[in-house]
Amino acid sequence: KIVLGFESSCDETGVALCTTDGRILGQALYSQIAMHKDYGGVVPELASRDHIRRLIPLMDETFAQAGITMKQVDAIAVTTGPGLPGALMAGCAFAYSLAMGLNLPVIPVHHLEGHLLSPLLSANPPAFPFTALLVSGGHTQLMGVEGLGKYTLLGETLDDAAGEAFDKTAKMIGLPYPGGPALSKLAEIGNPERFKLPRPMLHSGDYMFSFSGLKTAVLTTAMKLAGVGQPSETMVISDTDKADLAASFQAAIVETLVKKALAACMHLDHKRLVVAGGVGANKLLREQLVKASGKRGIEVYFPELSLCTDNGAMIAFAGAMQLAKNPALLDARDYGMLTRPRCELATS
Ligand code: ATP
Ligand code: MG
Ligand code: FE
Repeated sequence: KIVLGFESSCDETGVALCTTDGRILGQALYSQIAMHKDYGGVVPELASRDHIRRLIPLMDETFAQAGITMKQVDAIAVTTGPGLPGALMAGCAFAYSLAMGLNLPVIPVHHLEGHLLSPLLSANPPAFPFTALLVSGGHTQLMGVEGLGKYTLLGETLDDAAGEAFDKTAKMIGLPYPGGPALSKLAEIGNPERFKLPRPMLHSGDYMFSFSGLKTAVLTTAMKLAGVGQPSETMVISDTDKADLAASFQAAIVETLVKKALAACMHLDHKRLVVAGGVGANKLLREQLVKASGKRGIEVYFPELSLCTDNGAMIAFAGAMQLAKNPALLDARDYGMLTRPRCELATS
């Protein structure tokens, strides 16, 4: 069976075709990063409008790549949440209308399930069960994954998500949006030991995270370096200071993520640790996880770099896996479109 999947929860429009045996037949992606850059972050209304503009061309590109036609599609998968309400509505309105017109079933996909399963699309996919460290722009969670649809939440962030902390910290030291990649690039030439930044909740004994205190510590350090008493967007800090601050911040956040992820993996007695979400593209995080897990006989799995941030392939794949597990989904004709901007990943 073939599933056509759509992703539009934030600032990426993604379309892909995936078979129920897990092969991606074609995929196309458009990132709105350039459009939002001038504003220093995603502007929801602009994002929604742009999804509408991109969906059809991306879908055409996907079919051309796969060399198949719409008639060969068996089901349509779409991200119904969580995400920006307008952005989700753009993708869902399109996917549901198309499904209705073609008399195809719709498989609603939870965006985080897409991220969570994305490492299964890599050349060396992990087997179940595994512990997942989900680190994206909006979420930081540790999850036990026993199988498809069997997810237990062990812990999450009490405030900022890891990606959000990267983005906000980057902004503070004058780096362009999205801050994660820019900050980690700058960190490569910085001294990670120059500033002693806090590792919040490192010894809390649970699997919760908190990054807002770390962010504030960066801000007060930056203010001290700039010699100002008030935070301002025009603080002047030398390039060396910026690089050292970036490196020190990255070291602090990575250390916390690595320690807690391994503790969770050992607690669940899993032999596999899977990383997913945009921050999973971070080089230091990858290196440190490999190093720390090797010592404990745990194997780490990552999604391909291009599948760390939002994409259509992970959504088509999650839909295809659901269909493979439950072929009865083919008979469903529920076109009561429901977007869920805020929703937990259902566990069972
Ligand atoms: P969610 O999935 O929680 O709704 P999202 O879809 O916006 O959030 P992703 O697309 O998974 O998040 O990831 C985007 C985040 O990843 C951004 O915060 C970005 O800064 C961060 N990121 C991307 N590359 C890197 C990197 N190399 N190092 C650190 N952070 C990174
Ligand atoms: Mg994005
Ligand atoms: Fe995402």
